[in-house]
Amino acid sequence: MEKTHEAERLPILDLTRAYREIREEVLEAVTRVFDSQGFILGPEVRSFEEHVESYLEMKQGRVVGCASGTDALLLALMALEVGPGDEVITTPYSFFATAGVVARLGARAVFADIDPMTFNVSLKEVEKKITSRTRVFLPVHLFGQTVPLEGVRELCAERGIAIVEDAAQALGAWRHVDGAIVRAGLMGDVGCYSFFPTKNLGGCGDGGMIVTRSDELAARLLRLRVHGESSLYRHEEVGLNSRLDALQAAVLDVKLRHLERWNAERRVLADRYRMFFEMERLVGPVTLPVEAEGNHHIYHQYVVRVERRDELMAHLEEKGLSTRVYYPIPLHLQPCFSFWGHREGDFPESERLSREALALPIFPGLKPEEQERLVKGMAAAMRR
Ligand SMILES: *Cc1c(COP(=O)(O)O)cnc(C)c1O
Repeated sequence: MEKTHEAERLPILDLTRAYREIREEVLEAVTRVFDSQGFILGPEVRSFEEHVESYLEMKQGRVVGCASGTDALLLALMALEVGPGDEVITTPYSFFATAGVVARLGARAVFADIDPMTFNVSLKEVEKKITSRTRVFLPVHLFGQTVPLEGVRELCAERGIAIVEDAAQALGAWRHVDGAIVRAGLMGDVGCYSFFPTKNLGGCGDGGMIVTRSDELAARLLRLRVHGESSLYRHEEVGLNSRLDALQAAVLDVKLRHLERWNAERRVLADRYRMFFEMERLVGPVTLPVEAEGNHHIYHQYVVRVERRDELMAHLEEKGLSTRVYYPIPLHLQPCFSFWGHREGDFPESERLSREALALPIFPGLKPEEQERLVKGMAAAMRR
């Protein structure tokens, strides 16, 4: 077989393309922070938080920047006083941190299997998992599509169960509920986001934020991110050192101005993938992602399902076409969670998806000819 030249490799992600358009703006912001030598919290961080508050059209509560998406989840659970003996219902199909933070606090992650169409946690399964120990429901808006939380809000409220949304992949995603727009991260009690460089809004290092409509929770979160300090050197509780760097805030503030456009581009890319798959008559052998009714999917990832996924992936790799698997091991089967006592077969939909999921390149600046090349490469590989 003919080997493709390394220079022609289609990457899974190329951040330099979007950066090129905003390079001047970013460098100006970075220079401003360096000139000020103010690196911790301060006006850069507050100004970014305020801009997110208006981007999310928040009328109450606030945005609290922190050091990572993982810390956002950890701080949210800490503010809700989750600890040993408590149960947190979540999905087995997510990035590690979703369950990692629960274990870190000595609580138990109670998994509920996914809906095979949307890859998100199934609310029917969630209802079955509620016990008297359930303190939090932690849904993940996976790959940029929201969980229809309006379906369980009332039930959770009745039972005193808080909803903490893992919106790390969904900043800018929303859904229609009774004619109104409800945004990812603002459907429950607390929303957690990540600014890891590969996310839809990515910084130049680690970063995260928490969003809440409750002033009480916001005050607690503001305290928890600075060692639980209430006034200078007085500590009400043991918190974390988890602030959003001023440098990150300055860069993110620039990128926030372009987020809607980039998210719109991702939707165009998703439509175009569908067109190419239809042209190649591959819809069927390849299951395309669905945008569930009422959803504004922002395609953080474009994940298809295929049989014999690993073989296909290896073949594409040989042709210089990069794909990825999110996620090859469902959380209940992670070695470090074996003490929760799960085994293969416990969550069949998640396990099947972990064998069939294939993420294709999707990022601002991805070219139509690159998408076409990838889909044609898949067609050739699958027709062998
Ligand atoms: C990225 C991600 C996180 C963690 O964010 P970090 O900023 O990397 O700590 C948590 N949950 C999900 C679903 C993610 O995709």
